[in-house]
Amino acid sequence: MVEKKGLLYEGKAKKLYQTDEKDVLWVEYLNQATALNGAKKDQIQGKGELNNQITSIIFEKLSEKGIKHHFIKQLSPTEQLIQQINMIPLEVVLRNVAAGSFSKRLGVPEGTELAFPIVEFYFKEDALDDPFINDDHVLVLDIANKEEIEFLKAEAKKINQALIEIFTEAGIRLIDFKLEFGRLADGTIILGDEISPDTCRLWDLLTNDHLDKDIYRRDLGDIVPVYQEVLDRLTKIA
Ligand code: UDP
Repeated sequence: MVEKKGLLYEGKAKKLYQTDEKDVLWVEYLNQATALNGAKKDQIQGKGELNNQITSIIFEKLSEKGIKHHFIKQLSPTEQLIQQINMIPLEVVLRNVAAGSFSKRLGVPEGTELAFPIVEFYFKEDALDDPFINDDHVLVLDIANKEEIEFLKAEAKKINQALIEIFTEAGIRLIDFKLEFGRLADGTIILGDEISPDTCRLWDLLTNDHLDKDIYRRDLGDIVPVYQEVLDRLTKIA
């Protein structure tokens, strides 16, 4: 049994603890919800539990589909064990359908199917509001090399295909999502962070109703029953 040790890092939605095992971290999912880069903040009872369970099911499903990631196992409703990786400070966003910042910036109506899935990079730096950057910026800022950039794009597209299969089975349309990757000691890049309605836009396959954090961002109602619906649907196919 792995033992929980000292707090390593506290983020907006998760706490990370060391363990007595080398390169194994203990994650606790929190109930805090944030939007607008932290300007909007609330405690939402039950949110941590829902995201931990949803992320755990998705990572297990991704394993079945041959995707490498940091998830080891779920420990409790709000906790999981992960492999420690050296996080790459990028938000890798994949879009299948226009929404959110893409629609706003480019004037493409929300809900427009894109001709092919696209990958975007954002520099993960709170103080700068996570700016949108291109491949040259990634290179010049020494965030990743050319080969790694190509790997991140290809891997994000592979994960997109796997997630589309998973969510479609659950009656959910995958609009867009954000991934974070990290490096193992030998430099191998694997998927990290979480995959949940906080990090994906998920629309009901039949009604296009929001099943994600836009409910919170746009003050459309209570996220708990909506995230519960996503968990229930994933549990049914798990
Ligand atoms: N996203 C995220 N964390 C962020 C920014 C975006 O998980 O800090 C996710 C978001 O949930 C959506 C996708 O990335 O699924 C694309 O988000 P977008 O750029 O449209 O930004 P937003 O409209 O959320 O500000």
